[in-house]
Amino acid sequence: MIFDILTLFPGMFSGPFDESIIRRAKDKQLIDILFHNIRDWATDRHQTADDSPYGGGAGMVMKPEPLAACIESVKAMHKTSSVVFTSPHGRPLTHRIAMDFAEKPGLIIVCGRYEGIDERIRSLYADDEISLGDFVLSGGEIAAMALVDSVTRLIPGALGSLESAEYDSFSDGLLEYPHYTRPPEFKGLSVPDTLLSGNHELIRKWRRKESLRKTRTLRPDLLSQVMLTREDRNMLIEIEQEKHCDL
Ligand code: SAH
Repeated sequence: MIFDILTLFPGMFSGPFDESIIRRAKDKQLIDILFHNIRDWATDRHQTADDSPYGGGAGMVMKPEPLAACIESVKAMHKTSSVVFTSPHGRPLTHRIAMDFAEKPGLIIVCGRYEGIDERIRSLYADDEISLGDFVLSGGEIAAMALVDSVTRLIPGALGSLESAEYDSFSDGLLEYPHYTRPPEFKGLSVPDTLLSGNHELIRKWRRKESLRKTRTLRPDLLSQVMLTREDRNMLIEIEQEKHCDL
């Protein structure tokens, strides 16, 4: 999969993309990440990429011409890629969206800066707009990093044999169960007995129930969107009863 990243600050990406899973995915040629400095497409002597907003007010707006030229040149190279704008106005990024993107041949990710991008560029070129959440970042670069990371780990072969996205939070619509590692007791807190039992079926049930409990407690909104099995529903009844016992 090819990620083209259009940015005024390509230097921000060295580091996050040079370690761990992303680096390995690049080494294995599962992904390729190409950077395009929008400023290189400005034609004036000062390579201006921004201008003051029509109607007045604070801040600057990214000029349409360099961005249009940059997007068109990248699209001509990677015709089947989708153009995704990073924006607080976009669809909030979810596991579902990352899964859909992981099946695409490529993404052209546009990083805004300043007050944002001239609206005409969005109407002309955006296939999609993605937000990291209801807050404002200083630029789209961190959103692009989150997008590339969340999509890459879903590409088959990107995770090593000891890592797995199968049970990660959201993959089955629920938050993942809690994790423990050695030692069995730490600052007076013990690892749940079931996890030390070696009984795989009991461990599976414990994990499923704790996944349901975590989701019910922390993100009850997710539960209403999940297809629950009969076992799940019974576990939720038990969780409810245990809650009353605790009171
Ligand atoms: N003035 C705009 C915010 C611009 S922030 C507004 O109030 O809506 C500058 C750039 O940062 C945006 O163009 C976008 O690319 C990026 N950005 C800011 N917040 C973001 C978010 N929540 N998700 C994704 N990208 C974001």
